[in-house]
Amino acid sequence: MFDQCHKLHSDRSFAKTLKMLKKKLPPAYPVSIEYINCLEKLGHFGLTYIKEYKGSGRKRFIVQIDTTQCEDMAIETLIHEWAHMISWSVGNNWETWQDDHGPEFGVAFSRVYQLLIDK
Ligand SMILES: [Zn+2]
Repeated sequence: MFDQCHKLHSDRSFAKTLKMLKKKLPPAYPVSIEYINCLEKLGHFGLTYIKEYKGSGRKRFIVQIDTTQCEDMAIETLIHEWAHMISWSVGNNWETWQDDHGPEFGVAFSRVYQLLIDK
């Protein structure tokens, strides 16, 4: 699906990384990935938002990933977006939007990254 220009994570595919993160570090709500062609034109390689299903009270995290980036960059983007979801998940409950790239994001990013380098 992705272009192959870098080999930062040569033994790890995007699909495997996503599966591992969903299993080992699930955010407060289920995660759906939307693969978008040329999302980068809007200034992002990845973007995360919460979708609320009216009436049911159910929520999901929607992560949009630009498919024009190579797979290793897509993995880096996924790590970044995952850290947002973890920093926005407090005690398995949605609390409030934290500062986007503040201290909570940094702590969440290190938790996500630790999972990847421990393998
Ligand atoms: Zn961000």
